[in-house]
Amino acid sequence: MQIPDISRTKSAELYEKAKTYFPGGVNSPVRAFKSVYGTPLFIEKGDGSHIWDADGNEFIDFCGSWGPLILGHNRASVREKVMEVMQKGMSFGAPTALENELAELILSNNKYIQKIRFVSSGTEAVMSAIRLARGYTKRDKILKFEGCYHGHTDALLVKAGSGLVTFGETSSAGVPKAFADETIVVALNDKDALLKAFDDFKDQIAAVIIEPIPANNGLLLQTPEYLNFLRDTCIQNGTMLIFDEVISGFRVGFEGAAAYYNIQPDIITYGKIIGGGLPVGAYGASAEVMDHISPVGSVYQAGTLSGNPVAMAAGIAQLTELLQPGFYEELHDKTAGFVKAIEAFVAERGYELKVFTIGSIFWFAFTGKETISSADDIDPQSMLKFKAMHRELINRGIYLGPSGYEVGFISAAHTTADLETTKTAIFDSLDIVFEK
Ligand code: PMP
Repeated sequence: MQIPDISRTKSAELYEKAKTYFPGGVNSPVRAFKSVYGTPLFIEKGDGSHIWDADGNEFIDFCGSWGPLILGHNRASVREKVMEVMQKGMSFGAPTALENELAELILSNNKYIQKIRFVSSGTEAVMSAIRLARGYTKRDKILKFEGCYHGHTDALLVKAGSGLVTFGETSSAGVPKAFADETIVVALNDKDALLKAFDDFKDQIAAVIIEPIPANNGLLLQTPEYLNFLRDTCIQNGTMLIFDEVISGFRVGFEGAAAYYNIQPDIITYGKIIGGGLPVGAYGASAEVMDHISPVGSVYQAGTLSGNPVAMAAGIAQLTELLQPGFYEELHDKTAGFVKAIEAFVAERGYELKVFTIGSIFWFAFTGKETISSADDIDPQSMLKFKAMHRELINRGIYLGPSGYEVGFISAAHTTADLETTKTAIFDSLDIVFEK
């Protein structure tokens, strides 16, 4: 049954104002709701798995600030630790014991990195990791995959041209062609393209960067076999392998995708969950590689607010909870059960929809294909169905990220009741989307 649209009066008013202040009314593009129905919702507060907008509408939230909130909104342990630390000041631009504490928490529970550097965003982490790889290998080119996002650093705002192996074409105005020429782009899950790239650019590729769990252009799960092939090919060519774990880090397990697939990358980047909702990124590697960073090494990287105590406090509180026995098992089981129920409904109805999932990440793909492992596998037309579903779900109090290319996240705060309510809303919405 079609239900009326929720009120967006206050959100719409705020959006009109915001457009006079910010380009497109937002401080990050996807928030503008361009790919879905209606004006963006202005969020006023969050608690656990729920958020409330400026009109007082309540939603069960599956965006979780795009991934950081694995414990849900406004988790008491995180809030209290942040407030305690804030009593003593917010930033010193000098070392603090809190940085040691968070580093210790991470490094003593992660066998894939020996040293770490904290920065303030995922973009900064990736930008620094690329510079480190270039400085370490003394090579300039990098290779990325179509369908992976690594933040808005110039070198990575490139997309594939036509052909198996291409120099990147800039995907944003303002990125010099000369920068894009240093980035090679190939399709995911395509061994031939990768080998050809290494052939075409022998001894020139400093690093291959991949989201080992690509989750920014749908959920393009790779096979362990392909990821191992990538690892081996990099070793054979003296190229560093960078796992961009800004999403997968601390999400599919405390040690992220590296442990999930048991693959040792050369550098790993983190963000999102590591900051508990405050701006933090990080990159880590072996001590030998990390010691190429200044002040000991010759690769420069710095930051006024890097490792600031407030962000460190949030990270310490959040990661401590993730280390509790059974944390991930429970979260993953909950997600698997949720996805299974949707799959059963879809199968019974015969709808063309797949729900891809890993850990506590899920993605709705309006497709008949059994697997989707590269960007080309996605039919852009299928996004119209997502748009229709998003509208129905918002009206039923379920908040998904406002784009069909974005994944959803389940947090420890989602209750059985939340997931039951959400399933019912999804079933009703799908019946409307597929016009039953
Ligand atoms: N890498 C990946 C894999 C990401 O998902 C993102 C952000 N979604 C980034 C890098 C950039 O992180 P940030 O938005 O914190 O700069």
